[in-house]
Amino acid sequence: MLTTAEARDAILGAMPAFDTEVVPVHAATGRILRQTVRAERDQPPFDRVMMDGIAIAFSDFDAGTREFPIQTTQHAGDEQQSLRPGSCVEIMTGASLPQGADCIVPVERISVSNGSAEIQADYAAKERQFIHPQASDHAKDAELLTPGTRISPMDIAVITSCGLTTVEVARSLVIRVISTGNELVPAGEPIEKHQIRMSNGPAVIAMLGKHGYANCVHDHIRDEPELLKERIARHLEEADVLVLSGGVSMGKADYLPEVLEGLGVEVVFHKVSQRPGKPMWFGIGPTQQAVFALPGNPVSTLVCCRHYVVSALDAASGLREAAPEFASLAQDVTFKPKLTCFLPVRLISNVGGQMLAMPVHTNTSGDFASLSGTDGCIELPLQESEFRAGTTARLLRW
Ligand code: AMP
Ligand code: MG
Repeated sequence: MLTTAEARDAILGAMPAFDTEVVPVHAATGRILRQTVRAERDQPPFDRVMMDGIAIAFSDFDAGTREFPIQTTQHAGDEQQSLRPGSCVEIMTGASLPQGADCIVPVERISVSNGSAEIQADYAAKERQFIHPQASDHAKDAELLTPGTRISPMDIAVITSCGLTTVEVARSLVIRVISTGNELVPAGEPIEKHQIRMSNGPAVIAMLGKHGYANCVHDHIRDEPELLKERIARHLEEADVLVLSGGVSMGKADYLPEVLEGLGVEVVFHKVSQRPGKPMWFGIGPTQQAVFALPGNPVSTLVCCRHYVVSALDAASGLREAAPEFASLAQDVTFKPKLTCFLPVRLISNVGGQMLAMPVHTNTSGDFASLSGTDGCIELPLQESEFRAGTTARLLRW
């Protein structure tokens, strides 16, 4: 049986590298950037005035001049003016610094009458004050964004400032989320006492959507080998990624491993030394489809979806790997089985600025109501069984 680290490596090693598509910038937020974005121009593109006021030559001020005839007015967007010696240009924030000027005096420090601006007697101006020099943020052609960035609203500002209207991103993956089980009944339909509400499919779709994988369609298939074979074959033809839940344990109706292998999906592993989620199965289809078959217990499904499915889709879509996060256990935890424990936690921070993980007890791996309000899972290594409060553990947020 593989360890959790081996399982992760096996998935990453077997995943195809997904290609790219070009989308309009207005549809790019949350997508994974797959190109370099370079500065179209110097930033600022000219010596930019930072205050409303007057532009003067500092040498005039230094020589004692305090009253300056107003030569003209220059707004943001107006062409650059040439300042005449001894005069000033009335200037607005965002304008380009007039030629010959090297000092801005704010409007609050002057009084204007009869076409002249007079600087307050006690005001001490400095050379080049309130000027944002050309290229001081970055030069033309500077690398502003690199491939692997998840595009944020701030990145949209950068991309549009470079004059781009489209951007190359990781392709939107076609995903099928498939719930298996005769006992499952979707919300909205009448249900008998011996039946179970089908919650995994919608929860998996929600989790994938939260991570930017929105192109998901759900199917529910009964535990019948022929039916499973026929329907999964169609999904394999149409999708890049299959995420199944249920039907991978040792029960008599757990047909999935056999059905998948019969369809040419090559098994990469079956079972991981972890709890919850031990029966997890992963394989690669005949045309490189990634097939994740997650155990059906709802806590197992969600833990495996986050740890394996989301991480694998992120990596194969070219997302830059984030630095690992850690949290300190807020309470002692005992976990005896020789398995890695994925423990759902709520995060709290203490006054020392430390991130604490408060374990949230789940009765069984079917007790998914307890997961509500948790922030993620910590991973407790399989070699140990006693974890003292304060122990640092790897954290993965939902
Ligand atoms: P299985 O992995 O098929 O043996 O299922 C394990 C447990 O999870 C059983 O109690 C199932 O009824 C339950 N289960 C399986 N699939 C779902 C689902 N989509 N939604 C809610 N519970 C499920
Ligand atoms: Mg089942």
